[in-house]
Amino acid sequence: MSDYKFFKQVNHAFDAAAKYSRFNKGLLDQIKICNNVYRITFPLERDDGTIEVIHGWRVEHSHHKLPTKGGIRFSMTVNEDETMALAALMTYKCAVVDVPFGGAKGGIRIDRTNYSAGEIERITRRYAYELIKKGFLGPGSDVPAPDYGTGATEMGWILDTYRQLKSDINAEACVTGKPIPQGGVRGRTEATGRGVFFGVREACRKAGDMTELGLQPGLEGKTFIIQGLGNVGYHTAKYMSEGGARLVGVAEIEGSIYDPNGIELEKLVEYREETGSILGFGATKELGSNTAVLEAECDILIPAALENQINDSNASRIKAKILAEAANGPTTASAHQTLKEREVLIIPDNYLNAGGVTVSYFEWLKNLSHVRFGRMEKRFEEGSYRKILNVVESGLDRSFTEEEMKELARGADEYDLVDSGLEETMINSYDQLNELRKKHDIDLRTAAFLNAIEKVGVMYEQMGIFP
Ligand code: NAD
Repeated sequence: MSDYKFFKQVNHAFDAAAKYSRFNKGLLDQIKICNNVYRITFPLERDDGTIEVIHGWRVEHSHHKLPTKGGIRFSMTVNEDETMALAALMTYKCAVVDVPFGGAKGGIRIDRTNYSAGEIERITRRYAYELIKKGFLGPGSDVPAPDYGTGATEMGWILDTYRQLKSDINAEACVTGKPIPQGGVRGRTEATGRGVFFGVREACRKAGDMTELGLQPGLEGKTFIIQGLGNVGYHTAKYMSEGGARLVGVAEIEGSIYDPNGIELEKLVEYREETGSILGFGATKELGSNTAVLEAECDILIPAALENQINDSNASRIKAKILAEAANGPTTASAHQTLKEREVLIIPDNYLNAGGVTVSYFEWLKNLSHVRFGRMEKRFEEGSYRKILNVVESGLDRSFTEEEMKELARGADEYDLVDSGLEETMINSYDQLNELRKKHDIDLRTAAFLNAIEKVGVMYEQMGIFP
């Protein structure tokens, strides 16, 4: 049985921020607690005919906005404490990026590598069935998404299970992170990593803040280390590299590697696919353990795997000036304190990895409106741009080539609109947090909690208490 260590850790950060808010203890307690905790067990008939009991959870942390929203995790670390903590983080994350959902999280305690594809499908569908039975899945009640160990395939199975049991015209909106033909939105797969990139880039743009860290403003030339090359880690590393930063270290389950001259991400991924490991890649140096690289020289350290990776055992030796929390809960409370004393800029998880839920929100909107973003406007925009370009042309002594015309008059498609909405969200929210940080002389994590507490608190004040 868990002792709610992780959930307590989240509440510890909440309490540190609550001091700066105007709300009374009763209201703060209501914001903090988990509204619904559902523990599920069900049998799985394995391919060899044996029966195994599967343990799962779904936690709806806050009903101040509906639906609640949060990923489903398949991992051996899943327990009640972890699911509660991650659900709470979802509430605060959604508030920080102005996504109108309450927070939730789900998980199944399995190591998915021990199961066949068919078994994973049966586990996912039975879990979805159990959620539906108790009202924990639906477009207006609770909408899951992928998380550690799950992806678009599992989300597709969840949708199909829902559709088999419910006649609901909005069925597609019951889950996000789906494959595109099933109502997924373009840009969702890479959204979390893309959002991490926008957030780190924004932090690096603040010249004054960078000077305080002894760094130049801008992403260009900054070195970074990434832990985890999964969905979030890979996409973060990709956009960071494309944005001019240099990948110098990588940690994966099998170990960690470092090369101060830079690591080519795509070649590394190819190498890992071929050999099953990152070790031995190119000119990289193999470090002792899979956490050793976290302590190596770099400007930006990006944990993008699991929680509690930066803890008392390594915090005092971390050399990065910026800790960018792409994973959920990667830094323990006391490690946070150590890094803060050493004036490391911590860009917190409940802001930085909110790109996933932001684009999930766009996907949910798309599903409810039953139309692809840009479908109505694209041609109209292109026509309008062409008219403007024709006027411009008449004042020039040459005409645009058809190629130039196509490029300049391109109307926004779904990916463009999603990416633009995500970029706007990450920039706008960073500015909100940075302003609070400066106003109260607090760190960005406390600012993110405070920002969330204020938004959720106002909702409760305005809604009143039922009945
Ligand atoms: P994923 O399963 O796609 O990838 C996780 C990666 O971490 C895998 O490649 C795995 O091999 C690696 N890993 C596991 N243990 C490791 C270790 N000890 N050292 C180094 N690498 C290790 O999962 P993901 O979706 O990328 O999620 C990663 C983190 O980001 C989680 O904390 C998750 O909660 C968080 N997150 C994910 C999303 C999303 O949209 N997927 C959104 C917000 C937050």
